[in-house]
Amino acid sequence: MGKVKQGAVCSVEGCEEKAVRSFATDKAREALQPTGASLKDERARRTYLCQKHYKLFKKQTKKDKKVEKWRYGV
Ligand SMILES: [Zn+2]
Repeated sequence: MGKVKQGAVCSVEGCEEKAVRSFATDKAREALQPTGASLKDERARRTYLCQKHYKLFKKQTKKDKKVEKWRYGV
């Protein structure tokens, strides 16, 4: 899970950082939407996140108690 091949770049619009994790696009989009971040390609199967956006993603998913059990990135 979540492994990113070398050279992958963050999928957030306007971000060119090196990706550290990958997620299903739906999950990433849902979590990042409230932060104002949009994705370069919402139809991609996988979304790649850099360190910064990964932290943001984690913060957003933590806020929602309902998703606590859900193992993102699987
Ligand atoms: Zn990024």
